[in-house]
Amino acid sequence: MLRNAGGEVTDDVLRSLTISQHEPGTPEITLIHHAQCGMQTFTNKDFKAELAAQTGHKPHWASLAFTDVDDDLRKSIVRVKAYPFLNHTHEVRGRRLRCRDGQPARNPVTPGRLPRSGSVAGVVVLRVSAIRGS
Ligand SMILES: [Zn+2]
Repeated sequence: MLRNAGGEVTDDVLRSLTISQHEPGTPEITLIHHAQCGMQTFTNKDFKAELAAQTGHKPHWASLAFTDVDDDLRKSIVRVKAYPFLNHTHEVRGRRLRCRDGQPARNPVTPGRLPRSGSVAGVVVLRVSAIRGS
């Protein structure tokens, strides 16, 4: 299980997923978000500005805050499926967990229309498990 703030799939998470699939051969990936995530309570821009005001330094990374959990999960599934170094992308699921008890909230999220492989480029913003994280 890979955990971080917001369940973001950062470059390091993709590195770990890739190694996990190529060495032990992990066949499935489940992306888990909080149903009501703290990452929805601020914006990337405001967060950076706040840090800069407090510390005098701007982080080189984005907070990866988002507004809609389902939308973010769908986009994350699409990006995991399009990531070229993963062997097993036929079983990528998205789930929301209720923060109060960690139980699943509603049905799994499934991607609508998947882009052709290779059509997702640029910054990788994906999610992996963030159970009771941020
Ligand atoms: Zn959260």
